[in-house]
Amino acid sequence: MNNKNSAVRPAVITLMAPLSGILMPIEAVPDPVFARKVVGDGASLDPTTQILLAPCAGSVLNIHSAGHALTIGAEGGLEVLLHIGIDTVQLKGAGFTPRVKAGDKVAEGQPLIEFAADEVAKKARSLLTQIVITTPELVGKMRKYGGSVLAGKDPVLTIELAAGEAGHAAQEAGAPIVSKAVVIPNSSGLHARPAATLARLARAYRCDLRLRKGDAQANLRSVSSVMGLDVRQGDKVFIVACGHDAKEAVDAILPALEKGLGEESAGAASAPASSAPAARPAASGNRDLLAGISASPGLASGRAFILSQTKSHVPEHGETPEQERRLLGEAVAAARLQLDALQDRLKLSGDAGKSEIFGAHLELLEDPDLFELAESAIAKGKSAAFSWKEAFTAHADRLAGMSNELLAARAGDLRDVGRRVLKQLLGEPDENISGIPAGSILIAEELTPSDIASLDRTKVPGCATVGGGPTSHIAILAQSFGLPLVVGLEPHALEIPAGAAIILDADKGVVGVNPPAKDLEEVRARIERAARQKREEAGAAGRPALTLDGHRIEVFANLSAAGEAAEAVKLGAEGVGLLRSEFLFLNRTEAPSEEEQTRAYQAAAAALGKERPLIIRTLDAGGDKQLPYLQLPKEENPFLGERGIRIGLAHPDILRTQARAVLRAAQAGKVRIMFPMISDIEEYRAARAIVLEEAKRLGASPIQVGIMIEVPSAAVLAELFAAEADFFSIGTNDLTQYTLAMDRGHPRLAGKADALHPSVLRLIGMVVEAARAHGKPVGVCGGLAGDPRGIPLLLGLGVTELSVSAPAVPSVKAAVRGLKLEDCRLLAKRAVSLGTAAEVRALIPAQARA
Ligand code: PEP
Ligand code: MG
Repeated sequence: MNNKNSAVRPAVITLMAPLSGILMPIEAVPDPVFARKVVGDGASLDPTTQILLAPCAGSVLNIHSAGHALTIGAEGGLEVLLHIGIDTVQLKGAGFTPRVKAGDKVAEGQPLIEFAADEVAKKARSLLTQIVITTPELVGKMRKYGGSVLAGKDPVLTIELAAGEAGHAAQEAGAPIVSKAVVIPNSSGLHARPAATLARLARAYRCDLRLRKGDAQANLRSVSSVMGLDVRQGDKVFIVACGHDAKEAVDAILPALEKGLGEESAGAASAPASSAPAARPAASGNRDLLAGISASPGLASGRAFILSQTKSHVPEHGETPEQERRLLGEAVAAARLQLDALQDRLKLSGDAGKSEIFGAHLELLEDPDLFELAESAIAKGKSAAFSWKEAFTAHADRLAGMSNELLAARAGDLRDVGRRVLKQLLGEPDENISGIPAGSILIAEELTPSDIASLDRTKVPGCATVGGGPTSHIAILAQSFGLPLVVGLEPHALEIPAGAAIILDADKGVVGVNPPAKDLEEVRARIERAARQKREEAGAAGRPALTLDGHRIEVFANLSAAGEAAEAVKLGAEGVGLLRSEFLFLNRTEAPSEEEQTRAYQAAAAALGKERPLIIRTLDAGGDKQLPYLQLPKEENPFLGERGIRIGLAHPDILRTQARAVLRAAQAGKVRIMFPMISDIEEYRAARAIVLEEAKRLGASPIQVGIMIEVPSAAVLAELFAAEADFFSIGTNDLTQYTLAMDRGHPRLAGKADALHPSVLRLIGMVVEAARAHGKPVGVCGGLAGDPRGIPLLLGLGVTELSVSAPAVPSVKAAVRGLKLEDCRLLAKRAVSLGTAAEVRALIPAQARA
């Protein structure tokens, strides 16, 4: 290495050939990860020798466990990745003998890895060896050499270090800071949502920030670059920071990463609850019955409408780079406006949660790596459209090739948002699939979230795609719209003649083409029956739910976002029995302000009006819901640790702020406050005192203060609580978990963790008795309240308020109307005398079964 200026750090670093051979442009490497410079810019070498030498002095930052690649940290913070061969990671070390280990200091020309060229060449795609700079922010200019080179004798790259901010930052900070190892806790790895949280955190700092896994690293500010690392649960990663605020950045980001970046659940966080990857069925072998995967259940029939993908002409060359840059900027701005509008539409139609999908698209439009790739092509005279298409296609292809199904599914999102910008650049109108004739079953190679969101669902009763997976965002959207969707269909689905009669059975994941008339008739009759029942239930949803013998049961909604309140009212909800306020606290880097919370609670209260109660549950964090800004310590048994009100009392500032926001919103309606996970009367008293103090401070009128009954100790001592609390709401999900000592999310215990267990029913009975003795209302807001088998038992135990998910309100009201309270009481009396949940199930009359 020749350092031609060495006051503090070299201005120029020359890398010598690590092997003898012929130099090739990196763009010619038959692996898009290198050719498209996803890892970084550099050179490739077709080797004739078998001992990889250090191209410069430095230290070995890491060496891949498969022995085929390592990174050298050179002077000035420059990092050089040396990667022998293509796809050689798959050889799992066979043929490679490392001569150094991580942490070793090496001199220029020192042997690093020996490899058996013949053996490796036979098994790997290529022996081409890449020399890549993975710290592009430190590179001012890069000179690349060509032709034959001799190992250790000839240069391959000369790098003039950047004099700009990044370079100076690195200079000030000296060597990069490498964090301690973090073992990724997220059950789905670093998929789109945690990657976006990381990128947001990283953007608060000026230093260069990378995430390193093995010998690969990603720009922490780039969502797709982080996703591209394919980090899974249990993987060990490091944060590498370089620049003046590197330490602050690592100190802030490390704990967030350790705690799972605010992922709501240790389960598949961004996948729909029911999205356990379904196995793709074998091809049916019958061209009239095509096999796929159910992505959103339901049955539909109609005429085939095949959506053909039009290929747009994208001009390769553009005007001046300045003009093309401006065009790209304008197109991205227009795409942002469209995405904002789509988000607003979903929020207005009560799909606030789903609007986040387009929030993630907006996030992808912030990705510096995408723009860096596009910019480098624009600088070479390519058109903005060509450069943008190349950039998003490269990233999407990389994601699509990943074995992690969740990450691969996000490739579709990247293509969707990429095409949205591309259409702007090409001046193409937004594809209008709303022009489809009524009664069409839409069959396409691929559909995007934008397609599903803009579909006229009165005309299209069902969709099927050849591509896509059951965990993709189109699946999540289709489920929320109640749109039957089959994905992963056999490719000849696209050859179905337009207009052919179709039965789409999305429960089974199959598509029938030109079925016999009697099948079609039967399916139409089934669809009609189900629709009639739904219509009847919806038509009666606005009326109160009275049992056959005239007893009124209130049916409320559980909400996970303030924006869902209006839709809940439309569906007949007579109030909100549980507003899970976590939606305001998750997936962010700091707690929401009092103002933000007040606005959200006010919006929900206003949508409900003055008569319908709104029960706001204070933050129920901990357990499976981690918040990076709370810096909660890792716990052995998080569900038995700091959770719910315990966190509220340990962080009174958070509870006080929330209490103030609830009290302020109380002016807008019939607002109540409720504490989660109360297990001890002292907890209740302390939390209530905070609410009363804040009410006094604000000069606000006091509001009703209630508790959730989720812990057996609170149920057993309900008598004591009933004397002091204003109301109870029984959380049967947690009450079952804690009574039976069975994790509510445990896959193997799912069948046994049954809320119909007589022990749980007895506790519910005790709570109702205690509340009644003190004249306090008691509702049930856990899953049992929406379960057709649970409803008669709850009514029989004396429960008079059921709070269920908003879409279930009409059917729960219908179920109540089919019951006689007297029968329910007898049923409950017998149920609590039984010994097992199975015996209770056997007791429930057939009409009450789902
Ligand atoms: C419950 O535990 O039953 C409940 C409603 O609370 P969550 O599901 O939010 O824990
Ligand atoms: Mg609970």
